[in-house]
Amino acid sequence: MLLVVSGPSGAGKDSLVDELRRLEPDLAYSVSATTRTPRPGERDGVHYFFISRPEFERMDSEGAFIETREYANNLYGTPKRFVEDALASGRDIVMKPEVNGALAIKRAFPHAVLVFLTAPSEQELAERLERRRTEGPDAISKRLEIAREEARHIGAYEYLVVNDSLAAALVKLHAVLRAERLKTSRLHEKNGSD
Ligand code: 5GP
Repeated sequence: MLLVVSGPSGAGKDSLVDELRRLEPDLAYSVSATTRTPRPGERDGVHYFFISRPEFERMDSEGAFIETREYANNLYGTPKRFVEDALASGRDIVMKPEVNGALAIKRAFPHAVLVFLTAPSEQELAERLERRRTEGPDAISKRLEIAREEARHIGAYEYLVVNDSLAAALVKLHAVLRAERLKTSRLHEKNGSD
C-alpha cells in the first residue's frame, strides 16, 4: 500500500510521519529528491537526496521520478525505483509530498491512500511556520498562499486528519493505516484478481 500523507507546509507532516514510522518500523519511507539546501540537522539520503538543479533535471529527463514539483523556487521529486521495488517486495510505503504531488501519485497508483493533514486554522498554520524558524517572512507568506490553494483539493483525498495535537493525529493516521490493511480489496490486489 502507498500511504500518502499530504497537506500544507506547517501542518505537521514531518513529525507525524516520523511518529508513525516509529510505531510501524516495517513501513518503508520514500525519500524524495530536492534542490533545496539542507536545513540544520537534515541528512542526505535520510531526509532528502539533496541534489543540484542540473542533476535533478537530468534524472527527470531519464524518467527517474514518478512526479516532480517546483515548490517555493525549489524542485522536489519522488524517485520511481524505490517505490516500485518496495511495492514489488510487498512492503507498505509512506510518503509526504505536497498536494499536487499527492494527486500525481494517485494518478500513477490509483490504489494509493491519500490523507490530507491540516492545521486547525490558517492562523495556527502561520504560527507553526513562524515557530519553526526555518523560513523568513517572505517564504512563510508564500507557503501560506500555497496552503490556501492546496485546501481546494481536499475532495480528492480519502481521509482528512486535523492536526490539533500530535498524539491525537497519530492515533487517527494509525487507524487509517490499520483499517486500510484490513480491506478485502487489498487481498484481491495481492492475488492479482483486482
Ligand atoms: P520542505 O522544503 O518544507 O521540506 O518541503 C516543502 C514541500 O515540498 C512540503 O509540502 C513537502 O511535503 C513537499 N515535498 C517533499 N518532497 C516532495 C516530493 O517528492 N514531491 C512533491 N510533489 N512534494 C514534495
